[in-house]
Amino acid sequence: MNQYNKSTIFYKTDEEVEFIRESCMLVCKALTHVASIIRPGITGVQIDKEAETLIRDHKAKPGFKGYQGFPATLCISVNEAVVHGIPSKEEFKDGDIVSVDCGTFINGFYGDAAYTFALGDVKEEVMKLLTVTKDSLYRGIEQAIVGRRMGDISYAIQHFCEREHNYGVVKELVGHGIGRNLHEAPEVPNYGRKGKGIKLQDGLVIAIEPMVNLGKRDITKAEDDWTIIAKDQKPSAHYEHTVVVRKNKADILSNHKIIEEAIKNNPEIKEISIKS
Ligand code: MG
Ligand code: MG
Repeated sequence: MNQYNKSTIFYKTDEEVEFIRESCMLVCKALTHVASIIRPGITGVQIDKEAETLIRDHKAKPGFKGYQGFPATLCISVNEAVVHGIPSKEEFKDGDIVSVDCGTFINGFYGDAAYTFALGDVKEEVMKLLTVTKDSLYRGIEQAIVGRRMGDISYAIQHFCEREHNYGVVKELVGHGIGRNLHEAPEVPNYGRKGKGIKLQDGLVIAIEPMVNLGKRDITKAEDDWTIIAKDQKPSAHYEHTVVVRKNKADILSNHKIIEEAIKNNPEIKEISIKS
């Protein structure tokens, strides 16, 4: 498993892209279900179980479970947790932000997407962090077109979050190519220089996933050896789409709109108000 040259980029055929889209759509169905049940008082373990059942009911496999030994279907990262949180039995509280990252494997291909939910009465400055992080994802996606370079995506995200909003962009973790493997070349950093890095070509499928801290960018690992947390313990946000690079506009293979419809119908979650 996963024996491949890690620097080889696999450009996808149209048929392969459709398989990845199918996998991403299942991820987003699972996240939509999460959006309909998440609330203060429910636990990560509970929503993880529901997501796993939904995925297996579609004859697919959770993409993360067992990946390098990760024990769950969802990565659930609360407040100062950046990513890779293990679902716990602790109840979510009013005012928490909860990043839920999900992967699936079906028809030989992985899908990957993430969304950060605002539970109840989240502070204004934290809501702004969520809005800006989500906005930065779309600014990155705008650059994911044929002829641009990887650094154009990276720069768009970093410049918006750091220069315009003074947040800390996490550097140790990056987006990635995706396909028959959950993580493929190339890396998709959330920081970088315009005009640098590989030239983006048609059929390149990448997961773009800004991880943005309200405070400083420095991170550390929690005692569980999985959860990445902001060193200064301030909140951190994370949104992710899988996209395919195309000529004038990237094609977004995952779908946040269905997640956001479910949020509208869940009175215990606040909407993050930017386009998607
Ligand atoms: Mg992910
Ligand atoms: Mg990812």
